[in-house]
Amino acid sequence: MRIEAKRHLCQSYGNCVAIDPEHLDLDDEGLVVVTRDSVADGELAAVQAGIRSCPVNALVLVEGE
Ligand code: SF4
Repeated sequence: MRIEAKRHLCQSYGNCVAIDPEHLDLDDEGLVVVTRDSVADGELAAVQAGIRSCPVNALVLVEGE
């Protein structure tokens, strides 16, 4: 599993970064960046919580490496 960000949807709320700083950050423009897209099995719950926190559904979890 890995995380993908639809940066054009991001509204810079930062909720996701607060919950999952291991994978997500904001760039200089305040838009989300995926700093590490791979998701280990033990991280899945935290990653899903970060994704769910986004009010504009800008983050998705996809199959594959
Ligand atoms: S919660 Fe959503 S809108 Fe907010 S920074 Fe993260 S991806 Fe962007």
